[in-house]
Formats: sequence, C-alpha cells, structure tokens
Amino acid sequence: MTTDEDRARIAERLVALPVHELIDVLRRVLPQYTEDPYGIRTALVLAEATDYEDEPGLEVELVAWPDRDYYNGGLGIDQGLWEHGHCEKCDAGVVSNAKRAYCPYCGSRCGLT
Ligand SMILES: [Zn+2]
Repeated sequence: MTTDEDRARIAERLVALPVHELIDVLRRVLPQYTEDPYGIRTALVLAEATDYEDEPGLEVELVAWPDRDYYNGGLGIDQGLWEHGHCEKCDAGVVSNAKRAYCPYCGSRCGLT
C-alpha cells in the first residue's frame, strides 16, 4: 500500500508531463484495470469531456492511444487533443493528439481528423 505522500509524488511527476506523454503513461496503466468477470467487459479509460455552449449536455470522447508503430516509436505530434474520430468497432467517439491511434476500449485502429 502506498502513502498519501507516495501518490502525491507520482501525481506531481504526471502533472509535469505534456498531455501526449501523460497519455502514453496511462496507456501502460489503465488497461490493467479492465474487467470481464461475467461476460460484461468494463475498461478504465481516459476521457475528455467538452461542454459546448450552444448544445445541451457534455460531449464525452475516449482518449485514444497513439499508434506508435505508425509514428516510428514516437507519440505523434505534441498538439493537445485536437484530432477527433469514431471507433468503428465499438462506436465510441475518440480524441487524440495523433491522427492514427487505437481505441482504448476495444483496441481497434482508428483514423482521426
Ligand atoms: Zn473501440
């Protein structure tokens, strides 16, 4: 078990990362919390929520993991989460810093624009 101080140190290091590097760290962590005990798959994912002034409710999109093979081992452009798309397999809206990324829920390759 970690202490509050341990977790504060981890958080302090994560806050210092640009968003595309934070996403790469969480890509390695969040899938460890996926559960499928009764045929109902639940995945812990990172999401971005946007409140558009002229539309009711929040738009929630899953943060897709950059396709590191496509970017020759890199993470794609450090531009914030400006690329948007849709996962064709699980029908989730996705967002990423990269145009080529993987859905964090089902792992399908997604093209974002
Ligand atoms: Zn998907």
